[in-house]
Amino acid sequence: MIKKLLIANRGEIALRILRACRELGIKTVAVYSEADRSLKHVGLADETVCIGPGPSAKSYLSATAILSAAEITGADAIHPGYGFLSENPDFAERVEASGFIFVGPRADSIRLMGDKVSAIRTMMAAGVPTVPGSGKPLDDNAEENYAIAERIGYPVIIKAAGGGGGRGMRVVYDKEMLLESIALTQSEAGIAFNNPEVYMEKFLQTPRHIEIQVLSDGQGNAVHLGERDCSMQRRHQKVVEEAPAPGITEAEREFIGNQCAKACIEMNYRGAGTFEFLYEKGHFYFIEMNTRIQVEHPVTEMVTGIDLVRTQIQIAAGLPLPFTQADVQLRGHAIECRVNAEDPTHNFMPSPGKITRAHIPGGIGVRWDSHIYGGYSVPPTYDSMIGKIIVHGDTRESALARMENALSEMVIEGIKTNIGLQKDIISDDGFRKGGVNIHYLEKKLGMH
Ligand code: ADP
Repeated sequence: MIKKLLIANRGEIALRILRACRELGIKTVAVYSEADRSLKHVGLADETVCIGPGPSAKSYLSATAILSAAEITGADAIHPGYGFLSENPDFAERVEASGFIFVGPRADSIRLMGDKVSAIRTMMAAGVPTVPGSGKPLDDNAEENYAIAERIGYPVIIKAAGGGGGRGMRVVYDKEMLLESIALTQSEAGIAFNNPEVYMEKFLQTPRHIEIQVLSDGQGNAVHLGERDCSMQRRHQKVVEEAPAPGITEAEREFIGNQCAKACIEMNYRGAGTFEFLYEKGHFYFIEMNTRIQVEHPVTEMVTGIDLVRTQIQIAAGLPLPFTQADVQLRGHAIECRVNAEDPTHNFMPSPGKITRAHIPGGIGVRWDSHIYGGYSVPPTYDSMIGKIIVHGDTRESALARMENALSEMVIEGIKTNIGLQKDIISDDGFRKGGVNIHYLEKKLGMH
């Protein structure tokens, strides 16, 4: 069993992990940077270690600092959260080589899914539907590349095998631009990701983003927990997420969910994971797998009643999955709005600073996952997300009404936030109807 767990992250997810540990009777070690002394979970943890200065490269991204903290506090396990080192296979490897439990997949699974070409190949072999594409890295063979694009049909998208965060992609609308675009993306990818490999896919013009949550114990058992719709995005960043996805039928969910669970068993995947798909005209197209807990995991927790972080920790401790697919039942509808310290009226400029007043919504079916409090100063150093409001209702309509209420009760003063924008989204006719595509928010914001 795990007796003491080190939380290698900050902000709301660090607090989320701390809460799961406390319920499981596991002692916690909070590590924090010099810019983060007043984080809520640092005040609540059993032990705390300052691991370096504010910039993440010197603290939250320093494997050496984190492993030293685990060593001196005698932790058994390390939970990486999301972002930072969570999808770094070398870190996972070092954690295990140093004798600690890594709360996440084996390093080789992270590596396999971290390279998008090998991820796509693995999915094709497991029967998970992928986007029509090259299925391999592109060579410098002009004729072959023309032929691949011709077979797929324009427009195509050139993507970096090692890409992430919505970077390293280029859309090509006709033959004239193909070779130049491949060369440009290769050279950019070489610089940005230290890996010049690129591949080609059909560019889907109006897809939705729908993803499947899985849990797999690495002992032959895997389940899916249904889907989330995360189509409301700005610059490839998710803004609102919901579960289930409007209009997705039980048969579609069962088909795609079972394919994902089967793929987990075939690659002997261990832990929580997300299969991301683009969804267009009734078809799912795999784009990538995230081998970690995600920001939007609470909407799945609300509709399944399953604690994903607790289950992650139990799997890491070597326990088999405590439930089967038949035990996973979806109930009602959940929506999450991300609250960011930014100014939507001024090009979403980050708005760090001291929160002078904070009134948090509540009531039935309302959940607030956040580390902020009145008097807390949002540092300028990290991601601008400061919390997530999650609501649950019996129907999508009741969830929408609860979210409207919750947003109207929310008061955060001293800094700018995107709460006004979230109100606009929740009252937007298209969103209320359900099933908008990934370009909807940018169009609404006048970015196109
Ligand atoms: P990243 O790892 O950088 O997030 P993804 O492969 O998940 O990269 O793609 C990010 C986003 O880029 C997608 O959510 C989608 O908006 C767009 N995208 C990627 N591939 C395609 C495609 N084949 N057709 C249309 N849009 C795509």
